[in-house]
Amino acid sequence: MSSLEPSRRDTRLDSHIDQYADRTGSMTVSAVRALFSVANRPEVVSLAGGMPNIADLPLARLGDSFDRLVQTHGIQAMQYGSGQGELFMREKICEVMAEEAVVANPDDVVITCGSQQALDLVTRIFINPGDVILCEAPSYVGAMGTFNAYQARIHHVAMDEHGLIPQALEQAIVSLRAAGQAVKFLYTIPNFNNPTGITQPIERRREILDVTRKHGLLVVEDNPYGLLTIEGEPVDAMRSMDDDIVYLGSFSKTFAPGFRIGWVLAPHAVRERLVIAQEAAVLSPPVFSQFAIADYLDNFDWRGQIESFRSMYAARRDAMLHGLEAFMPPGTTWTVPNGGFFVWVTLPEGLDSQALLPRAVTERVAFVPGTAFYADGFGSRNMRLSFCFPTPERIIEGCRRLGKAIADELEMHNTFGLGTDEHRHRPVSGPAPNVS
Ligand code: PMP
Repeated sequence: MSSLEPSRRDTRLDSHIDQYADRTGSMTVSAVRALFSVANRPEVVSLAGGMPNIADLPLARLGDSFDRLVQTHGIQAMQYGSGQGELFMREKICEVMAEEAVVANPDDVVITCGSQQALDLVTRIFINPGDVILCEAPSYVGAMGTFNAYQARIHHVAMDEHGLIPQALEQAIVSLRAAGQAVKFLYTIPNFNNPTGITQPIERRREILDVTRKHGLLVVEDNPYGLLTIEGEPVDAMRSMDDDIVYLGSFSKTFAPGFRIGWVLAPHAVRERLVIAQEAAVLSPPVFSQFAIADYLDNFDWRGQIESFRSMYAARRDAMLHGLEAFMPPGTTWTVPNGGFFVWVTLPEGLDSQALLPRAVTERVAFVPGTAFYADGFGSRNMRLSFCFPTPERIIEGCRRLGKAIADELEMHNTFGLGTDEHRHRPVSGPAPNVS
């Protein structure tokens, strides 16, 4: 060993094991993590990750624009900034939200490091250990990771093809409260839900809000995908129908995730606490990113860019739907999203998506097993497929490989009778990492 090489301690034994906070225990490692390292190999078609395809951004022009930014505003753009986020950025964000009928005051916006950090701040200010958060069944793995980190109890509410079912929501609120549980908020993704791709129509949104108002339940509306509607115009945000909602937005899917700029729009009193929490967390959200994004919104045709993202993702969604139609064995069903990044597949009776994954990776295709999107072990007959990143040709090839893996698994199941109900609903360890 060269003397310059840093000495490496044996990390298998953790000498700090007795010192971790209780909440660390609820941060679980996924059983599928090992398979994901294989899934990232180039020969594997990954329908697993949720990375936006940003290759079509006008990189050369953006480079010139950032250059100019450093020359003209570098001293401010590279300095600490406001804990709430810069006023010019909050004003621009109000313009962006207006595209989905949200009328907002820049004073009620807090800029965050992606909407992921908005989830963290909202959970931090509302949740005591053991409090209940209502989520769609299934729901976004990254949100549930945050909720778990704050030791919330996640209670899933049933969905149908129009999203969250209002009657099931009401029943959950009433029965949990009757049992003495502190139900703190509903977390919902009304547009192109991650992972199902399902969108709540406007009428459903109203019904859900009738229930939450009746029971005095806060709604956290997470809307990173709304502007990526494929056919027709985006459905008005829930926040446009009720000012008393906490609304989360992001530039990650409509521009680029690397800037790490998202936001939360909240009723004024909530907003005040969020700013205090934000200052404690990061002092100020990334200032350079705010300058860069504001410059982009001022000097580029950002609406035109979203249009071109929409048609690029439409072609990929169509490729996936054709691929599924062509290659899935009978008994397999899937959702038809009108935007966003994801399709939710239900496997033929008796199959288990987590058990299928090694076979799929051998066939050189990867997906995320459905159990990652439930806090309670359900979802093992489901998988999330993403159509955002691979080219249409690769998506179709991925569907072909997946169809073969499912058909082979089905054959084995029919021969050996594996995959009982007990097996299907077996709880598994926590959410998969890096599958946003
Ligand atoms: N919410 C949902 C529903 C998401 O799918 C994601 C990213 N996959 C996020 C929030 C977080 O995105 P970001 O932090 O990049 O804004």
